[in-house]
Parts: sequence; C-alpha cells; structure tokens
Amino acid sequence: AHLARIEAVDEKINAFLHVDREGALAQARAVDEKRAAGEPLGPLAGVPVALKDIFTTEGVPTTVGSKILEGWLPPYDATLTKRLKAADVVILGKTNMDEFAMGSSTENSAYGPTANPWDLTRVPGGSGGGSSASLASYQAPLAIGTDTGGSIRQPAALTGTVGVKPTYGGVSRYGMVAFSSSLDQGGPCARTVLDAALLHEAIAGHDPLDSTSIDAPVPPVVEAARNGSVAGMRVGVVKQFRGEGYQAGVVQRFDESVELLRGLGAEIVELDCPSFDLGLAAYYLIAPSECSSNLARFDAMRYGLRVGDDGTRSAEDVTALTREAGFGDEVKRRIILGTYALSSGYYDAYYGSAQKVRTLITRDFEKAFEQVDVIVSPTTPTTAFPIGERADDPMAMYLADLCTIPTNLAGNAAMSLPCGLAPEDGLPVGLQIIAPAMKDDRLYKVGAAVE
Ligand code: GLN
Repeated sequence: AHLARIEAVDEKINAFLHVDREGALAQARAVDEKRAAGEPLGPLAGVPVALKDIFTTEGVPTTVGSKILEGWLPPYDATLTKRLKAADVVILGKTNMDEFAMGSSTENSAYGPTANPWDLTRVPGGSGGGSSASLASYQAPLAIGTDTGGSIRQPAALTGTVGVKPTYGGVSRYGMVAFSSSLDQGGPCARTVLDAALLHEAIAGHDPLDSTSIDAPVPPVVEAARNGSVAGMRVGVVKQFRGEGYQAGVVQRFDESVELLRGLGAEIVELDCPSFDLGLAAYYLIAPSECSSNLARFDAMRYGLRVGDDGTRSAEDVTALTREAGFGDEVKRRIILGTYALSSGYYDAYYGSAQKVRTLITRDFEKAFEQVDVIVSPTTPTTAFPIGERADDPMAMYLADLCTIPTNLAGNAAMSLPCGLAPEDGLPVGLQIIAPAMKDDRLYKVGAAVE
C-alpha cells in the first residue's frame, strides 16, 4: 500500500531519491515467512520506514543529496540500518535531503527540492525535508532523520509531524555520512509521539564502532510515551526564545501550549539563558570547520564521481575538477568558511571563540536544568516559507535554526511535535521540548501529555 502511495503522490512531493521496491517487498515477504514459521519477530515487524539518504545501505544507492556520491553503492550497512533490519522493518527507500545535510529547506539537494505536502509551493524544512514530507503525505508511517543543528526538528515543525534529536551519542553514527561529527545525531521521525518512541528504542543504544556512542542503557522512551503526564513537573520557558523575528501565529500557539501545560499541572518557570543568543554564530563556525575536515575524504579516488580522469591530468587536477562539479554552492561555501576559520592565525579568534561560546551554552543549560525538568520553546520562528524565498540569502536561511541549535551545541535531547496551525496561514507550528542529556524519556512523557 505504501509503495502504491509513493507511486501516486511522490512525483509532486519528491520525498524519495530512491525507492527500493524490490528490497522492500523482499523484506516484507521475509517477515511473512518468519511469522508463518512461528519464528520470533522484531519489535517493528513489517512496518515500513523511509530512511534519510545519509545512512549507508549495502548495495542500495546512498548519495547524501550530492552529485559527488552519484552511482556509489555502499559495501556495508550503517549500524542504524542494521538495527532497523534486526527490528524486521521494511525499508521503503532513501529520502531527499539538503546536500550533506547542509540547509534548512531541502532546496540544496542536487536532485531538486522536496515540496511541503501542506502547500506544494512551500519548503518542508531541511535538511531532512524528504523524511518529514514522506510522513506528512502518508508515504511512510515512520522515517529516520539526522539533526546537526535542527534537521530533524525543523522539518517536523514545518510539516506537522513529530521528530526527535536524541542525546548526542544515543544513536550510533557509524555509517552515517559525517557533516559535523561533534553535533551530528540520527533520530526518529513519526506522526505520533508513541510511534517515535517505538522507533527510537529500535535504533538507540551503545555501538562499539562509534567512539562517541554512550555506553549506558537506553532511556525508557516507550514506557514514557505510554504514560504521558506533566503533573508536578517544572517546565522552563526561556526569555531568549521569543521576540523579534517570531511570527505572531507561532507565538500564539506556543503561548497556548504553555497554558495547556500549566492546566495539566506543570509549574512554569521563566529562565534567562543569555548565551543562547550567540548559538547561531558559534554553530556557523563549528559546523563548517568540522565539515571542511570531514569532506576532505571526497577526493575523486575513494568514492563515486570522478571527473577529467583521461590519462593526461594529475591526481590533484582530477580531485579539483571532481569537487568543482560534484559539490553544490552551499557545500563549497561551508568548506571555504571552515577552512578559513581553522587556518593558522585565525584559529583562536574564530574556532577557539566559538568553542568557548559552546561551553557557555552548555553551562546555561546546566543551570536551567537545576531549576526545571524540561524546557519548552517554539521549534522554529516561522511556519513553512515559499520555495525560493530564502534560497539566495544564507543568513535568512540560517535563522530557521535559531531555537534548535543550542541543543546540538550542548549535546542534550529535544523533540518537536505539532501544536496547531498558525491562524494567519493555516500552516503547522511546532512545539519544542528540551531535556537534559540521557533524559530523553522526559521528552516523550511531556510530548504524550500535550499531543
Ligand atoms: N540547517 C542547519 C545547517 O544547515 C542544520 C542542518 C542539520 O541539522 N543537518 O547546518
């Protein structure tokens, strides 16, 4: 049914870069056979999942939305892919994304933008716009995203779906193409809080192949999602997450959510986190710096595309020609920014300062979580914007991540879930819930209570 739905609607949405029809049907048949034979089944047996095209899938194309990996067939599965298979899901295919997960609208994909199912002239958010759009258009009931600065939560907000960035280190990064390794985190996307929890539990947990993976039990997210409640909880509202640049309808729905929480028995606490105002600036130095180092591996020798290799050119020239043709504008912009920020003489002033700001943000969170159990905010300052509106204005595009970035810099956990439609445009608004590291279960407890 989901493959038929993809065939019927995805021409208009462009949520999928690759539909693995044969593979999906084979996985579905294998589940049927196991069931018939009375063999034990995984927790998500037979449930279709749309997988962001940033996770390697053995023998199935993995492009990261880039021309530079066109035609590359990974020789191995990411740990997350392996865990999905062990849960007996059916992987429908690979979803569209901003190239190398750099963007907030999915317009930076080398394979064309994804449309927002609520209004096809608008963006679904990014970088994981394909995953969220596949949920909102009922092409998949579950999807996987990655969140370096908001790429799970911001598309969830703009498409009226649920998205969770687990605690950094909670879900393995092995086989997830690296953008900014100290920030990147895979996580679940779904249409309900409980669905997200079931997927979260299936993909999370320690992985010796990822040196930053946390060796501790997975927080009890499913149990929390089944027992939603905020009675007696202290919920923080941060002063810095409102004001100039926030759409009136977004603020209105957020304020109503806070009243709802109060009505359900939560105590609302005002918080001041002054360093959050510096989050965006710090992020746009740290993420490009790490990307400039990570993307050095795309040298035309190891993977995918190779341009100009006609026997007359040096390896260096072939590398340069391949990168020129294979990387898009935003990826080149980040490599240049990052290389500059890391260059000798500038390192302390740019990268060094950004790391200090990162520490201040982490401390602001630590202080905040001495006073509250969770923090809530709008997920994004505005609802979905028109395709093309911010495409030539990187600064305007970067503002979409204002509320999501502090969490990535500090490494704690956050969820976005729908909290109604903005009255002025009828588009979905997202409520963000933020919890301390390894307290991911609190997101689900609160999310299930207000869903
Ligand atoms: N929009 C942010 C960026 O472009 C975040 C992307 C992400 O989370 N992958 O860097």
